[in-house]
Amino acid sequence: MLDLSRELGFRFDNSYARDLPGCYAPAAAAPAPAPRLIAFNHALARELGLNAAALDSPVGAEIFSGNYAPPGSMPLAQAYAGHQFGHFVPQLGDGRALLLGEVIDLHGQRRDIQFKGSGRTPFSRGGDGKAALGPVLREYILGEAMHALGIPTTRALAAAATGESVYRESPLPGAVLTRVAASHIRVGTFQFFAARGDTAKLKQLADYTIARHYPALAAEANPYLALLAAVSRRQAELIARWMLTGFIHGVMNTDNMAISGETIDYGPCAFLDTYHPATVFSSIDHHGRYAYGQQPPIARWNLTRFAETLLPLIDADPQAAIAPATAVLEEFSTHYEAAWLTGMRAKLGLLAPPEPADLALANSFLSLLETHKVDYTRAFGALSAAARGDDAPLHALLPAPAWQTWVPAWRARLADPAASARAMDSANPVYIPRNHLVEAALAAAVERDDLAPFTALLDVLALPFTPRPGLETYTEPAPPGSAPYRTFCGT
Ligand code: AMP
Ligand code: MG
Repeated sequence: MLDLSRELGFRFDNSYARDLPGCYAPAAAAPAPAPRLIAFNHALARELGLNAAALDSPVGAEIFSGNYAPPGSMPLAQAYAGHQFGHFVPQLGDGRALLLGEVIDLHGQRRDIQFKGSGRTPFSRGGDGKAALGPVLREYILGEAMHALGIPTTRALAAAATGESVYRESPLPGAVLTRVAASHIRVGTFQFFAARGDTAKLKQLADYTIARHYPALAAEANPYLALLAAVSRRQAELIARWMLTGFIHGVMNTDNMAISGETIDYGPCAFLDTYHPATVFSSIDHHGRYAYGQQPPIARWNLTRFAETLLPLIDADPQAAIAPATAVLEEFSTHYEAAWLTGMRAKLGLLAPPEPADLALANSFLSLLETHKVDYTRAFGALSAAARGDDAPLHALLPAPAWQTWVPAWRARLADPAASARAMDSANPVYIPRNHLVEAALAAAVERDDLAPFTALLDVLALPFTPRPGLETYTEPAPPGSAPYRTFCGT
């Protein structure tokens, strides 16, 4: 029996439900026959003002499996459209997600609390609205790793097993992920109303988005053009962070791009191991549309679709809006390249003022990694060691020619190698969610009900820049001879 009198700490303030009627459909979570809390994020719960101790309990299992809607929540499925692999679908929407509501966190930030995998909604089409435990834990691990790496992202609050089987190719244990986001407003949310020619709703959505995410823009001469510029800038910065860290989203459809600038909708995502721009892990990305090196141009493509939705708001004559919108989109590459180069200079330990040669130095390092099939994360770790005077790790990765040309050119740029090494330590993570470790953690949880590898991996990834003795295996690439890595949407 639920103890309803227990103070759980939820204080909902559901602005999306209140301010945007017509942008969603009310819905309810499906009952879970045997709920069990698999993981609960205490630190995030406290940040949200929740009673973490009270929620990490059978009561929490009932709530985070969807059996009991916390007081003040107003579950709804958001409407959105989207370009999937380049093809426009006018109606997608939350087919397996449910926005519970919004809370204001301890920093005064409004955050969405959303279920993923809680059953069918009016947007489910042929789907069951459910999620399997493996993909739920994958999103949990990857999102928390990204957060610890300092990359804007949605985060996992809880993972709950439902006690029910979901049917994919075979029966799998079902689960619900509870995730927290600045909001779930997507490029696709704008596309939904633009495709219907509903400019009034579009304006309402744009005004809501500005007030929620970019309040200063309301005072601009043209707030909608300013919105395009601000979103474009945040995306440029976000994608630069992905590229610098080796993150591959895997399915950058326009419905998976958040207006807030957070990484959202973790599906077949994975981290780069051996450096190559054409790297693709997703089993459904047959043509490499969302390959590692394609992410910056794809982001710009998505932003162009966003710009198209805003044209009637930018100018009453949408034709007249094209030129200013295009000019804003042109700036994406400038912002992206600046953010990337700043980050890459930090990774290389270049503390001296920028020089035009920095870009070539960075690119020639990446060419070496590509040519010699070097692990991306280990390469930068070895570079930090070399700055500290220990060349052995870098020698193990780069053959002799690199030591005649690139390494001396790099060393010549380090005025104070010890200071560079210290700075590099906070730019180059030691621990990333390596694909084989993620797989092993998911397999143990799903096949053997053993959560120890999942919990251990989460602990390691929570401090990605701090090397700790005894954790060496977490820095190693997949064992030689491993099969090429493949990820699945898991839907
Ligand atoms: P995603 O792969 O998360 O980007 O989802 C793309 C679209 O498919 C969204 O509209 C989802 O709600 C929908 N979808 C994915 N899986 C399911 C499912 N199992 N049941 C219902 N809808 C789904
Ligand atoms: Mg999605």
